[in-house]
Formats: sequence, structure tokens, C-alpha cells
Amino acid sequence: MAGEPQADCLFCKIVTGEVPATIVRETDTTVAFRDINPQAPTHVLVIPKVHFRDAAELAAGDPQAMADVLREAGEVAAQEKLDEHGGYRIVFNTGAGAGQTVWHTHAHVLGGRGFNWPPG
Ligand code: 5GP
Ligand code: ZN
Repeated sequence: MAGEPQADCLFCKIVTGEVPATIVRETDTTVAFRDINPQAPTHVLVIPKVHFRDAAELAAGDPQAMADVLREAGEVAAQEKLDEHGGYRIVFNTGAGAGQTVWHTHAHVLGGRGFNWPPG
């Protein structure tokens, strides 16, 4: 069924605690944890507890969970004081060619440095 945990999914295992992570926030529907390979001074991943492969699939399959992920991205930014330091970037890499390597929806919340536009 759509949204059900997947046995071979790394981020589903972070949701259950089977794989450890440095968790910075958790709600009934989301987990936020530090990226193992940070690309900015602050780099937190926000994931829904439900399993969908990317941002668009989550938005289509469970719009409330997508709203929860985006609200939590803002809460992480506030907790990490990113809004006081020039802002932050929310990124959903979607598809292998765009850099997606984990097939469980995740928002990258990046901050603490400047960002170019357009992105690379
Ligand atoms: P993607 O490349 O799919 O957009 O993002 C996946 C992210 O997950 C990468 O930034 C990568 O560093 C991070 N990542 C991969 N494995 C782990 C892990 O076991 N723990 C944590 N905390 N982050 C991970
Ligand atoms: Zn998953």
C-alpha cells in the first residue's frame, strides 16, 4: 500500500530507530536529523514517517504529510536560527540525474552560508 514502510529503505530504518541518526526534531508524522555528509554548516534532512519515493509522489499520495515536512523545515530553520543568518534553502533532489540517492522523500534544509542562484 502507498506510504507503507519498505524493508530495504534506509530512511524507513531511521524512522524506526533501526539505523541511528542525530535527530534534531520529531513529530507524529516527521523526523528531522543531521545529514551524515553536510554540504553547509547546517544541513538537516526532514522526512515523513510514511514512505514515498520523492516530493511529488508524497504531495500526491499524502498532501498533509507533505505540508508537515515543509512546516518542520521551517521549524528546523527557526531552531537552528537560520532565518537570523540570511535565510536558508529547502531542496528536494528528484531523480538520479538531479542527485537523488535515497528513494524516501526528504527535504534538505541548508543554511549557515551563502547560496548561489541559479543553483548548480
Ligand atoms: P539525496 O542525494 O537523495 O538528495 O540525499 C540523500 C542524503 O542522505 C545525502 O545528503 C546523504 O549524505 C544523506 N545520507 C545518506 N545516508 C545517510 C545516513 O545513513 N545517515 C544520515 N544522517 N544521512 C545519510
Ligand atoms: Zn522509506
